[in-house]
Amino acid sequence: RAKTDGRGVYRIYSPEMGSNMRRYHYLLDEMRIAIDSSNFFLTFQPIINIDDCGISYFEALVRWQHPVEGTITPDEFIPIAEDSTLILELGDWILEEACRQMAAWYSAGMKKARISVNVSAIQVKHKPLYDWVMDTLSKTGLPVCALMLEITESCFISAPDELFDELKKLQAQGVMIAIDDFGTGFSSLSVLANLPVDVLKIDKLFVSEAVQNSKYSKILHSIVDMAEKLELKVVAEGIEQVEQLELLKSIGVKNIQGYLISRPQRSAYVGEKIFEQGVNHMVHTGTSQWPP
Ligand code: C2E
Ligand code: MG
Ligand code: MG
Ligand code: MG
Repeated sequence: RAKTDGRGVYRIYSPEMGSNMRRYHYLLDEMRIAIDSSNFFLTFQPIINIDDCGISYFEALVRWQHPVEGTITPDEFIPIAEDSTLILELGDWILEEACRQMAAWYSAGMKKARISVNVSAIQVKHKPLYDWVMDTLSKTGLPVCALMLEITESCFISAPDELFDELKKLQAQGVMIAIDDFGTGFSSLSVLANLPVDVLKIDKLFVSEAVQNSKYSKILHSIVDMAEKLELKVVAEGIEQVEQLELLKSIGVKNIQGYLISRPQRSAYVGEKIFEQGVNHMVHTGTSQWPP
């Protein structure tokens, strides 16, 4: 074991690293089993329109129900899945399951909301996106106008021209394309000039910083102005506090997502709240000031 004390001394090995590696390989092995025994499930988080509180989108967010570990969050297992080819299998399941669920809600009367599905950079590198998405839509019976794909800027670093073409074809069919975590990648602005994009999802970092740091709120303002000129929609994610909501309203952000409105929920809960009690019961009110 290398020296661990003193500033500037690099740890070559520490017990912690060993246990991180063990955890990594443990989860990788367990994931192979989990995919076969369907231990994953989707949760759904509404993105609502600030003016009428209607639901614009539902983001599908995957969870892993592990028999021993309990629920494991995607921040831990998606990167591991991306290091192997498991993300391809898992990603197929996610898109199909999300479309199937939305198709059911759509035929039950929810015609205005879209399902929004995260697609990883590894998936777009390995798959001809257009055929995959169109095949899944026809298999599940979901109309193209009820789907949005969320892609991060990192997908476009050294992306082949084919990816642009695939996205253009999907967009031409009516599938919406969102740039996720906007503002935290490297190529934000050139991406906007070149890509078939409909929606900017502003990273929650901007939302959490904007209230106390005016530079962030000025940047937010500029993003909203720019989006308007480019005819893009804006979604802000990570709204937890009423002050954040008020600020975003004053800046002109129209679509918001966050714990203040609702946490990601299981499909049964969404169905029950929306179809039996109406949209406002889905929207959780941590505060008496909501709905505004
Ligand atoms: P993301 O796509 O940016 O998703 C938003 C994340 O913010 C979600 O975390 C959501 O639960 C969380 N969130 C929403 N509102 C709030 C809030 O008010 N406060 C805070 N602190 N967080 C909020 P989650 O579900 O843990 O997912 C984390 C990331 O994992 C996602 O970030 C996405 O990059 C990835 N991920 C999740 N599901 C999928 C999936 O189905 N496929 C792929 N490829 N990646 C996924
Ligand atoms: Mg997302
Ligand atoms: Mg995001
Ligand atoms: Mg993220």
